[in-house]
Amino acid sequence: MSDFESQLRAVSLRVTRPRLAVLAALRDHPHVDTDTVIGLVRDVHPTVSHQAVYDVLRALTDAGLVRRIEPAGATARYETRVADNHHHIVCRSCGAIADVDCAVGAAPCLNPSDDHGFVVDEAEVVYWGTCPDCAAERTSQSAPSSEGSR
Ligand SMILES: [Zn+2]
Ligand SMILES: [Zn+2]
Repeated sequence: MSDFESQLRAVSLRVTRPRLAVLAALRDHPHVDTDTVIGLVRDVHPTVSHQAVYDVLRALTDAGLVRRIEPAGATARYETRVADNHHHIVCRSCGAIADVDCAVGAAPCLNPSDDHGFVVDEAEVVYWGTCPDCAAERTSQSAPSSEGSR
């Protein structure tokens, strides 16, 4: 039995090929959006419908096997790294996303200066910036070239 099969059984979800395919796609390609998941799944199982992938993503997210992240202004992304409260760093130019481990350890890992009496169980942190690829592109574009400067 694969890891994914035992994960599905542990949350009382039936083991189906689309579910296994979505989990495998997200393991190999973390932080991808729905369209990318559909493409990856259909590479392996061309008969799986778009709707089936939507349904699988919702079922896996509801069951806690998949985490849905929604950086402001970006499309929702999915990942299978759910066991921790890690954060994300997002490129403003291309939308690339990388994982950032918790600042202090377990959730919420940041304590509000005033919790207003709330019991806080999670802190959602998104770091925004420019990824190395976009930074390199920007540098090469702005670098003076012997032809372009005339
Ligand atoms: Zn970028
Ligand atoms: Zn992540």
